[in-house]
Amino acid sequence: MIPKPRQAVSLRAYNSLGLDALAEYLLPVHSVTEARSALALAKQQSWPVTMLGGGSNVVLTGNVSGLVIVNRLEGITFEGARVVAAAGEVWQTLVDRTLAQGLTGLENLSLIPGSVGGAPIQNIGAYGVELAQFVETVNTIDCESLEDVSFDRAACQFGYRDSFFKRQGKGRYLITSVELRLEETFSPRLDYAELRHALADNKNPDPFEVSRTVCEIRRRKLPDPAVIGNVGSFFKNPVVAEAHLSKIQTQFPDLPYWPEPDGQFKLAAGWLIDQCGLRDSRVGDAGIYEHHALVIVNLGDATPRDVTTLAENVVAVVSDRFDILLETEPVLMGG
Ligand code: NAP
Repeated sequence: MIPKPRQAVSLRAYNSLGLDALAEYLLPVHSVTEARSALALAKQQSWPVTMLGGGSNVVLTGNVSGLVIVNRLEGITFEGARVVAAAGEVWQTLVDRTLAQGLTGLENLSLIPGSVGGAPIQNIGAYGVELAQFVETVNTIDCESLEDVSFDRAACQFGYRDSFFKRQGKGRYLITSVELRLEETFSPRLDYAELRHALADNKNPDPFEVSRTVCEIRRRKLPDPAVIGNVGSFFKNPVVAEAHLSKIQTQFPDLPYWPEPDGQFKLAAGWLIDQCGLRDSRVGDAGIYEHHALVIVNLGDATPRDVTTLAENVVAVVSDRFDILLETEPVLMGG
């Protein structure tokens, strides 16, 4: 027996951008059994299903028809270096619990907002570390057959802020838990200059110190979603061929870039947006964050339309100036 879904529910409290749109029906689920029953109900009623975790990587583009299932599954268990975390756990809780358990690997991923279940969907990454490195299995319920389906790392098809769950598997699987294999011996990953510099006075940082430093940098640069609505990076960093890089460099010799394993070059989307003079851009109550051009913020009462129009403007201006089409990082949801 599962609780009845509520009807016509505002999603404002369920997305970190704080956009107001309605879910036709909404039901939080707290166990795998409840999740399966909710999916069965949707099937019986022929409702389309939308899954929400922390709502920190979602941009509502309008009302959401059918059933919105809010994943509140809880529990974190350890078995040596292996950890199984339920999808509804807060990501930072998992980071803290693994460090307290003497396991390392997740410290560079500290303070990324959102839930454990959302993490593999976009393959969260920061400071040279990606979740994909640690994933053994992602456990799901198939929304069509209602069967349990597990994906090993290869089946997840992880890419840069990308996975099978964002592409072919989009909307089809409700993630119930994530199994990770972490490390018992600490090897700090300090390739990123900002993190390395912040720890320059500390010759032998421990995982807690690295985690604390990442938190400090993020707090300084990124808006706290509890205070200013946002979804972190709004655009992915583009990757271009060498000829394209050279062409931009003739005009912008200071262009930052990083070589990719496939011979192409990653550029910083935030830098490109800044060069276009877009830092002060605003549409209604949607604006570019004053301390970080890659972040779109809700300055009060932004509507889904404000956010999408601002994002479209940014894409058009960057495309005109650099011949690069920026891709949205968060998932778009709604009508
Ligand atoms: P930043 O340090 O200002 O650097 C700008 C961009 O340059 C970053 O996006 C990063 O790419 C790239 N970069 C910097 N040093 C690099 C190196 N040594 N090798 C390869 N690429 C390098 O970036 P930021 O916006 O403050 O973000 C810091 C880190 O947090 C980044 O890794 C960023 O991806 C991550 N972050 C993640 C999320 C998320 O997962 N939702 C949200 C916000 C920030 P990469 O983005 O590829 O690392």
